[in-house]
Amino acid sequence: MELDSDIKTTPRGFHCTLCNVKLPNMPSLDQHIKGKKHKTLSTVRATRKAQEEHSVFVSGIKPDISQTDIAEYFQQFGPVTDIIMDKDKGVYAIVQFSETESIQAALSCVEHLMKGLKVRVKPREKKEFKLIAKKKNDHHNLQQVLNRLKPELCQLVSVDAQMQYVVERFQLGENEKKARGLLVQLLQEVFIEFFPDSQILPFGSSVNTFGIHSCDLDLFLDLENTKVFQAQTKSTTEQAGEGMSDDGRSEDSILSDIDLSTASPAEVLDLVAAILRRCVPSVHKVHVVSSARLPVVKFHHKELNLQGDITLNNRLAVRNTRFLQLCSGMDDRLRPLVYTIRYWAKQKELAGNPSGAGSLLNNYALTLLIIFFLQNCEPPLLPTVDQLKDMACEEEHCMIEDWNCTFPSQPIAVPPSKNTQDLSTLLTGFFSFYAKFDFASSVISLREGRALPITNFLSKDKEEEAMQEEQPEKASRQGPKLGPLNLLDPFELSHNVAGNLNERTQRSFQRECQEAEKYCRSLQYQRKSTKGKSWGLVRLFMPHGDLQHTKPEQLNISIPFKSASLPEGLCNQLHLMGDDFRLLWFKKVCWAVEGVLKSVLRCQLAPSTVAIFGKTSAVDAAEEMETTSASHNTSANDSCDSVECSDEASPLGPAVIGAKRRLSSGSDASVSPQGKKARLARRSNPEPPHWICVQKHIVWAGRRKVRRELIKDADSSPEGSCVELESQVTAHITEKEQELKEPLEFKVQPQMMGGTESTRAVFKLEPISDTMGVFHDFFHFLEAFLPKMAETLLKKEAGSV
Ligand code: ATP
Ligand code: MG
Repeated sequence: MELDSDIKTTPRGFHCTLCNVKLPNMPSLDQHIKGKKHKTLSTVRATRKAQEEHSVFVSGIKPDISQTDIAEYFQQFGPVTDIIMDKDKGVYAIVQFSETESIQAALSCVEHLMKGLKVRVKPREKKEFKLIAKKKNDHHNLQQVLNRLKPELCQLVSVDAQMQYVVERFQLGENEKKARGLLVQLLQEVFIEFFPDSQILPFGSSVNTFGIHSCDLDLFLDLENTKVFQAQTKSTTEQAGEGMSDDGRSEDSILSDIDLSTASPAEVLDLVAAILRRCVPSVHKVHVVSSARLPVVKFHHKELNLQGDITLNNRLAVRNTRFLQLCSGMDDRLRPLVYTIRYWAKQKELAGNPSGAGSLLNNYALTLLIIFFLQNCEPPLLPTVDQLKDMACEEEHCMIEDWNCTFPSQPIAVPPSKNTQDLSTLLTGFFSFYAKFDFASSVISLREGRALPITNFLSKDKEEEAMQEEQPEKASRQGPKLGPLNLLDPFELSHNVAGNLNERTQRSFQRECQEAEKYCRSLQYQRKSTKGKSWGLVRLFMPHGDLQHTKPEQLNISIPFKSASLPEGLCNQLHLMGDDFRLLWFKKVCWAVEGVLKSVLRCQLAPSTVAIFGKTSAVDAAEEMETTSASHNTSANDSCDSVECSDEASPLGPAVIGAKRRLSSGSDASVSPQGKKARLARRSNPEPPHWICVQKHIVWAGRRKVRRELIKDADSSPEGSCVELESQVTAHITEKEQELKEPLEFKVQPQMMGGTESTRAVFKLEPISDTMGVFHDFFHFLEAFLPKMAETLLKKEAGSV
């Protein structure tokens, strides 16, 4: 069947080749196939196919032959339903018949003479129907740039030289900077006519020393000293007749004088847009985006092929741009690192949101991550923002919107770093630092140059206290929006610069750092190839996906620690636990997972293992965790197989000290320190704690349909959001559907991760008996269902205490 041929099974679920969509499990596949996109594309494809089968291709026609001529001629072979002509050149046409027999008739005719002109008739070419990927061009361009860059990089002598070359290759040239400067000057001259005493200030990558060819031009229109919008400009009155812009209207027709103290930002931006449209030559595609965090007027400059953004009230951005400039001036190694890492991140699809919106890292956030790493090098390469504040003199004192933005204006005021590491080592260090970073449980502070424990931000009071310590005047402000990656702005301390990231981006960032770290330890990275092979940065810059091998399937389900969506009651409990919050959270998650398996999905759990995570065993579980976490299980550190990486994990403070914490190291004697060994040996169960589960029904298939029947309105309750409903769905299936001939038996082994990587609970699933071959389907279902449902259960429990 056609439908089946579109769906391919992959190690991670399914892939719909028609829509180019990946589906993790059966229910999502089911949903996709019934969905609008798949249906529409299937219909379009079927129509195209039918058209192809009913039409012929006619070439050699001349422009003076009309559609009617063609229709009249081809009628002799059968009824014609449609004719498509190429309008521009008039050299070919597609003739569609209502019956396929007509095609044969037309094709078997030896010579076609139409109004005395000999034309050729061929069968229609059968083209494979493909959905054109939207990003194809962008990807294509990136690939082209890399193809040109490859040989240039390969012939250099060292990774350091390659990094310097990346700067040379991408940085803004002098002429580009000059052109941007002239445009700023022109805009300044125009705006000052309408907004007396206003100032237009560039910020962002055009001026922060990290700009690349074609980066956008970020501008701040400072209206602090401007009282009114002056509709009648000097220039239009002085040079009557000359003030005509490209749309033919005169400039003085722009609205009327407006008192700016009463105008809303949206109104002011509309005025800015109107001025740009009417008074600035070569500017087009002007539009206001008022939904952005900071509303902005966007425009494009034709001659310079430049995208520009104008914002109001953006003094903080101008100041943080100055900060980046200062950092750049303090140490020459920052620019090559930033250019290299920005390019790497773009290639790996981690950074570079189209038009500012999206869930990827933006370049500002990425640069801050680099600076934070450099603050944490041993010895530090850059000072903390607090230290910079203390190095500033009185005239450099700067407060913006009540945030302290003080730092020295010149790099000379900052003592040079004692760190002598070369670029290549620092690059490896960056990857290694973030490969092991516990994002879920930390809040990155460049101000203090350390990761603050997330627990400081979980309770309202505490969060305010923390802020009060830093900046007493900020006590009443709201805390940052927590997410999978928490990176505080160095000045606007209540702003999470990476607040737009989703879990997927955060995970990809860490995974790519881990991959890059591994590669950086290889000889291919460190040594120039004598055989002309790719080496050093070249392989690091391979686009996302190109280097991925088909890894052996890992049947793990991860439940990340999500500070942003924890129930309030639990937040407070975790906050009280301080550094030990992971133990409590893990125990709760295990309890919830057990609940999902047992109560929601009606698995039978073998009694001997249940007690370990049962509600009564809080102390046991915590104690056991402590026993094993203190033992620093070396086998658990398998991702860190070199001694070199152990040094760099420590500067993050107490919140992230410690290796991966396994729930238990079991009988592995090599990891049990003295004293703990005896306790472990006393245990009746020497295996790591786990559940043995038995499932007798296919409870994962057809849930959507049953749910819809039960509530009559599926949309009001998405899958996994209601414990009772999901339990009912299972009950319904187990009652109505037949039992599996042989039940599925599987093992679930929980493990806590964190400290040296993102805090999360990992559940390893392993089939014990799967005669019916259903384990993989069940696993794919659980991948999506288990984390969602466990979260719901946790929320429910927190609500009931
Ligand atoms: P590029 O334009 O090449 O992507 P950029 O550094 O100019 O790099 P933009 O996203 O254009 O990045 O942002 C411009 C400036 O706006 C930044 O340099 C920074 O000063 C400020 N900015 C951007 N994003 C944020 C943010 N999330 N929080 C605070 N300031 C930001
Ligand atoms: Mg920019």
